[in-house]
Amino acid sequence: MNDDTGRGSSADATSPSTVSATAAGAILTIDLGAIRENYRRLKARLDGARCAGVLKADGYGLGATKVATALMKEGCDAFFVALLGEGIALRKAIGPGPKIHVLNGLPPGSEAEAVAAELVPVLNSTFQLKAWREIALGTGRSLPAALQVDSGMSRLGMPPADVEVLAQDPGAFGGIDVRLVMSHLACADEPRHPANEQQWLEFERLRKMLPEAPASLANSSGIFLGPLYRYDLARPGAALYGINPTPGEPNPMAPVLRLEAKVAQTRSVGRGAGVGYGHTFRAEGPMRLATISLGYADGWHRRAASAAWFDGVRLPFVGRVSMDSIILDISALPAGRLQEGDLVELIGPSQSVDDAASHAHTIGYEILTSLGARFHRRYVGA
Ligand SMILES: *Cc1c(COP(=O)(O)O)cnc(C)c1O
Repeated sequence: MNDDTGRGSSADATSPSTVSATAAGAILTIDLGAIRENYRRLKARLDGARCAGVLKADGYGLGATKVATALMKEGCDAFFVALLGEGIALRKAIGPGPKIHVLNGLPPGSEAEAVAAELVPVLNSTFQLKAWREIALGTGRSLPAALQVDSGMSRLGMPPADVEVLAQDPGAFGGIDVRLVMSHLACADEPRHPANEQQWLEFERLRKMLPEAPASLANSSGIFLGPLYRYDLARPGAALYGINPTPGEPNPMAPVLRLEAKVAQTRSVGRGAGVGYGHTFRAEGPMRLATISLGYADGWHRRAASAAWFDGVRLPFVGRVSMDSIILDISALPAGRLQEGDLVELIGPSQSVDDAASHAHTIGYEILTSLGARFHRRYVGA
């Protein structure tokens, strides 16, 4: 069976959604085959370097376990999550084997939980390094870790001055099996931004002071910055999920998502009718409206793309987005064409994630990770 609705059995420990297609107000279809295709497309650009999958925030809202399982079929054996809790849940779901890195490092006192789940912490500070080393020395075996250096984003990673101090201390990495030295780019989606080259140079300088290990610098957009940025392991997230890693250029990735909302009701109104909260819209003449069962509580920002689509026809939102519903102007469709229960498209062939995001003056990442828990989720292409 190719269409796994994920209902009932819910083996997916990291995805809470189990509402049925008939009960739900909206249906989110996630094409795991397209995610695999995107992985292959990125891999093809890496000239033999390895490619991980970034699964933080439940796989950017799409279901970390499902995505991981799909990527493993492509030979992916390294994943990155942000938080320890995400790593523990993912390990439970996918079992032993693939490496799971925890990008934000470990909160103090949580080290034993990371050991138990066989996770690879990303050590971002001397403090985290020392805590991990103590656990390693205590258990009498060497423990794996990734070292992150701050090459210029000032977010996570060891500051250059701390790396210089560590480089002078021969015992600093005792008990630690350094599997990866990494850093993160602040401006990779702006290929001409001078920070990219500055960060590359700083990464080169800093990694040479650390124990020799495979290196990793590129996120999705970093993969498109050219061969210097590839190193041994790339860490794409967004591009796997169909977000354009080259803003301003055509999207080289395959679309992954379809979001459709159900028509809850249709009506005709006359001139002067007030529509929605605050009557911010008033009918200038007779018009037909449809109310759909999706609102800002489902993560559709009040400023996100302001139209839905049906049969290739654009249906503009009228009035304000409500918590659980949005009102559409359906006057462009023949009368009776749209019925209660019909599905209109919010994300799909007519309107991409990036389109929806740009209306909201935000990025596709925020649209994806906001998409709500009330949807019925349908996984296809598994
Ligand atoms: C989120 C993240 C990534 C993935 O970034 P994308 O832009 O989604 O490809 C890679 N590395 C680190 C450190 C991250 O935080």
